[in-house]
Parts: sequence; structure tokens; C-alpha cells
Amino acid sequence: MNTERLIRGAAAFGLDLTEHQAGQFAQYYELLVEWNEKINLTAITDEEEVIDKHFLDSLAGVKACIVPDDARILDVGTGAGFPGMALAIAFPQAQFCLMDATGKKVRFLETVASALGLTNVQAIQGRAEELAHDPVFRAQFDLVTSRAVAALPVLLEYLSGFVKMNGRIAAYKGPTFNEEFAAAAGAMKTLGLALEKTELVSIGDQQHTIAVFTKKKALADRYPRPQAQIRKKPL
Ligand code: SAH
Repeated sequence: MNTERLIRGAAAFGLDLTEHQAGQFAQYYELLVEWNEKINLTAITDEEEVIDKHFLDSLAGVKACIVPDDARILDVGTGAGFPGMALAIAFPQAQFCLMDATGKKVRFLETVASALGLTNVQAIQGRAEELAHDPVFRAQFDLVTSRAVAALPVLLEYLSGFVKMNGRIAAYKGPTFNEEFAAAAGAMKTLGLALEKTELVSIGDQQHTIAVFTKKKALADRYPRPQAQIRKKPL
């Protein structure tokens, strides 16, 4: 893999990747392409595109919020590990939990973590709206990330149960952020979330918004609601 491109791109966010970390990304790329022949992990396999649209796009989260050394971070609907696995490589001192509903993807994530020697990664299979009621996960995380999982009102309901008081949600969003945000006012109020900031990220020809929310109020026990209700009647 062209690790120069990755190192240069990360440096643009103020992130200094070591040669060791760049090597871990190269191994991750190899495994992604290999496993993608058997299970559907990504539509993108071209090396430069994976670097830009998966690795650097994931790392761009650092533009929006800092990752403290001992933080507990959850990535919901992580898929092939974006942004969670990329952040776990970049921040070996923080603890990462990568959650996805699909067992095969979780198996891939476990394989990557073990091949790369990452001891700060745990992969969990399950649905966010169910696991958010499990005391092992409820209100346990300093930061919860998510990319390309659901529209903002639904996404915030999935995520808010996992966040500690005053903890953060970083939602990686595309060009529809403004409309989604306008539709999320009710969800934010019900879930006790405040928008802290938005950060625009440009990588190549793509523009993304990373929106950071802070949890300001304890969440009522009934949230998140079961999937059918969330879909039928978004907050
Ligand atoms: N975040 C990755 C994957 C996005 S695809 C990326 O940006 O590349 C959406 C992923 O979310 C899928 O892997 C799907 O299995 C998972 N997912 C969707 N709804 C979920 C839920 N309610 N709980 C857990 N995972 C979910």
C-alpha cells in the first residue's frame, strides 16, 4: 500500500502516524480486499480510494473531537471497521468497542484486530437499539461514533443510550446533513442532546460533515425504543 499517501493525509489533520501504524493500515487493506471476495464488506477496493474514502475519512474525526488516552469509544454499525478500526489503530491508548448487527463482519473485525496485534479492540455482534439497554453498554462510553448507518433522528436514538453524561456523539454525515439536522430537533430534545459543533471535512472530491453532540440529560429508560417503533415514528 502507498503508505505515504496515508501518512501525508493524516498529517493534514495533525495526526502523526508512525511507520508501525502505517504498516498496520497496509495489513488492514490486504485483509479487507481478501475478505471482500467472500463477504460484502465494501464497494471500494482501489488502494487510493480505500485510503481516502475509508482510512482518511475515518481519521478525519480527530478534526471534530479529541480522543483522550484512556477514553472508551464505541463505533455503532462499524461494518468493515469505519471509522472505529481506523481510529483504534491511530489511538492505541484508547479502548474501542466495534458493534455491528452482522456476524460475518464481526468475525472480520476480530481477524483484523488479532492480525494487527491490536489489544484495544473488542468486536460485538448485535443491534444498537437492543444492546443500548444492556447494563454492560448503557451510559458507558465517552465517545460514540457512527458513519453511514441511519438518518440523524433515528441514529441519535440508536446512539444516545451508550453515552456517559457529558459524553459525545460524533456522527459522520454526507451532503444531506443540513436536512437531517433540521429533522432531528425533536430527537435531540427528547434524548437530551446538544449540538456542540460541526466540522467540514474535504478529502479528494468528497465533502463530509462530522457533527458532534453532547449528552446533557440522563436518558429515560424507554429509549431507545424497539426497531419497529423507531422506524414507524421517528422522534
Ligand atoms: N460504518 C461503516 C458501515 C456502514 S453500512 C462504513 O461507514 O463503512 C451500515 C452498517 O451498520 C452495516 O454493517 C449494518 O450491519 C450495520 N447496522 C445497521 N443498523 C444497525 C443497528 N441498528 N445496530 C447495529 N448495526 C447496525
